[in-house]
Amino acid sequence: MNFTNYLREFPDEKGFFGPYGGVFLPKELEEALEEVTDAYERIAHTESFISELRRIRRDFQGRPTPIYPCERLSASLGKGRTQIYLKREDLNHMGAHKLNHCMGEGLLAKYMGKKKLIAETGAGQHGVALATAAAYFQLECEIHMGEVDIAKQAPNVSRMKLLGAKVVPATHGLKTLKEAVDSAFSAYSKDYKDALYCIGSTVGPHPFPKMVRDFQSVVGFEARDQFEKRTGFLPDGVIACVGGGSNAMGIFSGFLDTPVTLYGVEPLGKGPQPGDHAASLTYGVDGTMHGFHSIMLQDAAGEPAPVYSIASGLDYPSSGPEHAYLQSIGRVNYGAIDDEEAVEAFFALSRLEGIIPALESSHALAYAMKLAREDGYGSLLVNLSGRGDKDLEYILERYGDRF
Ligand SMILES: *Cc1c(COP(=O)(O)O)cnc(C)c1O
Repeated sequence: MNFTNYLREFPDEKGFFGPYGGVFLPKELEEALEEVTDAYERIAHTESFISELRRIRRDFQGRPTPIYPCERLSASLGKGRTQIYLKREDLNHMGAHKLNHCMGEGLLAKYMGKKKLIAETGAGQHGVALATAAAYFQLECEIHMGEVDIAKQAPNVSRMKLLGAKVVPATHGLKTLKEAVDSAFSAYSKDYKDALYCIGSTVGPHPFPKMVRDFQSVVGFEARDQFEKRTGFLPDGVIACVGGGSNAMGIFSGFLDTPVTLYGVEPLGKGPQPGDHAASLTYGVDGTMHGFHSIMLQDAAGEPAPVYSIASGLDYPSSGPEHAYLQSIGRVNYGAIDDEEAVEAFFALSRLEGIIPALESSHALAYAMKLAREDGYGSLLVNLSGRGDKDLEYILERYGDRF
């Protein structure tokens, strides 16, 4: 397959990447999303939108983020032949890549004349990023979050409130992410004339997988340009962790039309038993949930299965439809890293380079370290999707003996 025009041609008009993607929602929400799709296609490619987003990325977000060669980490892996580089999304404002699409979504809402942003959040990272965008654009912000998650993620709840967002507890069922999605969709269907729904990853119904990918593609285009200027070459491999898939699609977008080998890394958690991991592309089946068709982990009744990962940003029972497609055509290789391997990478990068990575990003780094030990690679570029300060308390509690 030729990838020269891929980003323009995928997804198709209905939001499909091959068999995956689409819109599977009640009629009234379908109409609301058609409005979003039309607005996105009409507005996001105009010169004024692009130049305003560019200015925001520079002045507010601090882009471009650098790429960084990990000399000591690379040397520690033996043979001395593989150089690991990081794309430093941990240095993006608020410490992760998520703001890249939240600022795009906020700007779109402003152009559409909306007054409010609505979203769900699991661990709260997306809620915080969206609340940041809402504060910047002076829009109202309503974040739906399971009651159980609110209790577990107090610092993120405080951040959202400080930034001016309203946190709405989802109080039914298991009171976690799935219920937060239901609650947010239901609020949006009552309010879509005034509000824009903002999904936190390359998941959900069309146009979100496309829109979020396009807003995140800045990561890949920057990285490719920076890497080529610095070394005169392309990296041999590009590696990113995959939860819903936004940071991975962001960096992959810059390299899909090159010979670079691409690796998506899923969380293997405690192991391959059902319920112990969230490696949906590795162990999942075709299915439909949260308004889209993709590969997902399901229980016996066909409902989203319980999932687990040490990295709360990765424990989602599916992955974006574009990842399901890129796996099916063999353009991206997907592998999995367990909790222990991720924690080892977390400590290694902290000790050897003075960079504390997010546990999510540590999965991608651990995979790079594994490939480097097996050797055969000249250079590997890892998307360091976020910084690890948010994970410190948990790591200290569980792995305090390693300090
Ligand atoms: C949310 C999050 C992820 C996972 O989300 P994707 O959409 O798969 O990128 C990865 N890294 C960090 C730091 C996150 O906050």
